Amino acid sequence: MAEPSQLGELEPIQTDRVTDFDPRRVDATQLQIITGHVSGIIDALGLDRTDPNLVGTDQRVAEMYLEMFDGMRSGAEPHVTTFPNEENYGHMVMERDIPFYSMCSHHFVPFYGHAHMAYVPGERIIGLSKFSRVLEFYAKRPQLQERLTEQVVNFLVDKLAPKGVMVVIEARHLCVEMRGVKKPGALTVTSAIRGQFHKRALREEFLDLLKR
Ligand code: ZN
Repeated sequence: MAEPSQLGELEPIQTDRVTDFDPRRVDATQLQIITGHVSGIIDALGLDRTDPNLVGTDQRVAEMYLEMFDGMRSGAEPHVTTFPNEENYGHMVMERDIPFYSMCSHHFVPFYGHAHMAYVPGERIIGLSKFSRVLEFYAKRPQLQERLTEQVVNFLVDKLAPKGVMVVIEARHLCVEMRGVKKPGALTVTSAIRGQFHKRALREEFLDLLKR
């Protein structure tokens, strides 16, 4: 591990730049530390930080990381309201093709794709828009696709106590496509199941709905 002194001096943060980033949520100390380290990377690459295209890049990257890793911020967990299952609906509820973007833990480059999520309600049901909120919450952190899949399933089990849950995630990993083995377009598929989805018939129903 490098000594802090090798990682570049911390510099004051420009506060006059116009940006989409919501400064009310930013931990200023965190932003300053990451900005300083990104400066160190730029320097170590032998780049000229006075180049017009590199001016402010250190802080932009730091802001981007804080935005892409927003799911780690305390208070980021979505508030999921559940409703009583008054109609006693006992079949599968599915939301498919939910897009997401995440960053792989191993290389800090994006992996992205779609999730397909289904559950069989118990006594509570959930608003459908919450599926994507939950997915986004767990996607916005350094992730592994396997872990993302499990975390989404566990969240739904905890909040809903459903009779079953199944989540399938299909994603492209830029660390595989841009470098290393270079397999453009390769899809990584992960799935996690709980409860009634252990029965083959229900899993097949899920997969049939996916094919449509
Ligand atoms: Zn990776």
